[in-house]
Amino acid sequence: MPLLSEAGTLDAAGIEAWLREADEKRLEHLWEAADRVRSERVGEAVHLRGLVEVSNYCVRSCAYCGIAACAGPLPRYRLSHEEILACAREARRYGFGTVVLQSGEDPGLTRRFISDVVAEIHHDLGLAITLSLGERDDEDLKAWREAGADRYLLRFETTDPALYAAIHPGLPGKVSDRIAQLVRMREMGYEVGTGVMVGIPGQTWATLARDIDTFRQFDMDMIGIGPYLPDPRTPLAGPLGTQLQAPPGEQVPNDEVTTLKAVALTRLVCPDTNIPSTTALSILDPGGGRRNGLTRGANVVMPNLTPPHYRQLYRIYPGKAAVHESVETLTENVLGLIAALGRTVGKGPGGREKRVT
Ligand code: SF4
Repeated sequence: MPLLSEAGTLDAAGIEAWLREADEKRLEHLWEAADRVRSERVGEAVHLRGLVEVSNYCVRSCAYCGIAACAGPLPRYRLSHEEILACAREARRYGFGTVVLQSGEDPGLTRRFISDVVAEIHHDLGLAITLSLGERDDEDLKAWREAGADRYLLRFETTDPALYAAIHPGLPGKVSDRIAQLVRMREMGYEVGTGVMVGIPGQTWATLARDIDTFRQFDMDMIGIGPYLPDPRTPLAGPLGTQLQAPPGEQVPNDEVTTLKAVALTRLVCPDTNIPSTTALSILDPGGGRRNGLTRGANVVMPNLTPPHYRQLYRIYPGKAAVHESVETLTENVLGLIAALGRTVGKGPGGREKRVT
């Protein structure tokens, strides 16, 4: 197995060997290496991004998602311009440097509507803006970049094309190629972020290792990694999931330690990228998930600013809607955790800084 002191030389085979590692003592070396590289390359600052879930309408039918068009009846909402701006003002009041506008793939969020919202946040509040609005056409993406959006998140979820096709049905007449969209967005001047779920039925150790190696190949600026949390109402939690399962010994489990291994290895191969300690990790382990993410490579937390009555409808995976922690409590808890870890709260927009080593 490649030495972690030579993390820069970890290839997909080396990543896979570490993903399969089950010895707790050896894993301690992985956790220590990830935390050291995080400290050396992105420092002690934990950046806080205010998350606003602007719409739970979605035209897609991803086989695992609780707000997919196919996921059954669910009251739908779309925040107004003023409601989004009110959330962004909250972000500024709490001292967050970035607001993240996230939604399902919702054509009701028109080019003009998002451009106006972005321009107002950019000019009047001076916050950095991350968009996470799904697969959109280049004209939309260019307009939003020109209006002031800084970053765009689009998870590619898996590099296995057959698995991707099985769980992300395309729209009629449209090709779904998320990596191609990420590359185009970088050319437009966005910082780009992506990510995967850990433990999707059909995800093998080799696939997950290739996913992590792909983060490095495309030099991603932000990388979100969370466990697959099956929504019982979705096809992937039923017969489709059973049908896709990889052979025994090859199927990646959707547990906390495997997710943390993926986070730690991502930090080693993408040392100066921004990595959140995800909400899904906190749901899997309410007592320690956020802390474990931050001590095994992560340097970002995204407190949810969505008004609670909408937040409960943005249930992309089970348990998420039950996160009733108010933003005050969450921020207090996160600030307490950051202080307890001897870290600091990031100032300013918190974009990626490529450090020369
Ligand atoms: S994962 Fe995203 S694009 Fe897919 S159904 Fe859910 S919200 Fe829509």
